[in-house]
Amino acid sequence: MIYVDYNATAPLRPESRAAITSAFDVGANPSSIHQQGRQARHLIETARAELANFIGGQARDIVFTSGGTEANALALVGITQQLQGNVTMLVSAIEHDAVRNNVARMALRSEILPVDSTGILNLESLKNRLDAWESQRDGVPVVAIMLANNETGIIQPVRAVVDLVKQYDGFVHCDAVQALGKIPVDVAALGVDYLAVSAHKIGGPQGVGALWVRSGAPLRPLLVGGGQERSLRSGTENLLGIAGFGAACGAAEQAMGFMDELAVLRDQFEDRVSAAFDIEVFGRGQARLPQTSNFALAGFSSEIQVMALDLEGIAVSSGAACSSGKVSRSHVLQAMGVDPGLADCALRASFGWSSSPEDVVRFGDVWIEAARRAVLKEKV
Ligand code: PLP
Repeated sequence: MIYVDYNATAPLRPESRAAITSAFDVGANPSSIHQQGRQARHLIETARAELANFIGGQARDIVFTSGGTEANALALVGITQQLQGNVTMLVSAIEHDAVRNNVARMALRSEILPVDSTGILNLESLKNRLDAWESQRDGVPVVAIMLANNETGIIQPVRAVVDLVKQYDGFVHCDAVQALGKIPVDVAALGVDYLAVSAHKIGGPQGVGALWVRSGAPLRPLLVGGGQERSLRSGTENLLGIAGFGAACGAAEQAMGFMDELAVLRDQFEDRVSAAFDIEVFGRGQARLPQTSNFALAGFSSEIQVMALDLEGIAVSSGAACSSGKVSRSHVLQAMGVDPGLADCALRASFGWSSSPEDVVRFGDVWIEAARRAVLKEKV
């Protein structure tokens, strides 16, 4: 089996598995003051320090959550509630559903920020919108912009967004779920107010993530109860998950150099497939995640590709896999103005920490063969 779906979930890193296994033996509540409780607390604080180190932040500003979805919800709902609804959300058109649906659910003032055909946020339209801002009418500007897109891997100009929004006393939330472990993520350099991350995208376990919150940024908790996580996320901490997350951060940080190698392999793959077929690679030539390739061959539908490759032992997704397992049209490609027929043929290949050069070559062989068969079939 060749796994080419790291942007959905990266396989568990051995370091993370080892940390989870040893956390099993602690078996105590991190809030208990006895020795075992303190041991559990130590595991959590070690993980917090590892994550803080990885994102260039302070451990005390990290709130562990149940994943990237909850981290995004905590930031967006949390700031809105703290500011008593006196906000207008400006949400990039390519955000993950974890951002889009949490904003939509609040049914507050929200607007979509367009991206260009390059897949990059149009800064001009953000600036125009902010120039027309009326605090009385619009409240506080809150912008949601991801660091790297989960489908195309295209990297967004987050720092430039922050520089603009800060001129209008607004706040910026950044979903860095896909960026972490693939490109450097540094909260100080980005200048954002909130940053969401998730363990299972970097080789940690599913069901754990975190929100980094700039000290003093407005935030109200989603969950109240026992007051864990500085009262920002009550509930006994997910000790196993958090221990695994911390270890994955350490391992991913050590292995960042491997991402450059993956970029070379990814580019070779794209060159090879482009030489064989007239494919469109979305985001080619833009700053992109090093291990993501989103491409389409007109007439070769995403669904057929995913199934044909699965039969050959390749695990890969179309750009827009959703929880039902169905393939639906990508709002990301739509926002980039990609022809709907071509968008329905997009495949997202994403490599990662255990991908080998042979895997990438084999994936190319199988894809080319499958495309040849599909094209022949069409001609018959
Ligand atoms: N944000 C982005 C950009 C993602 O790609 C994902 C996962 O697909 C999420 C948020 C949600 O993260 P989680 O699965 O940990 O809830």
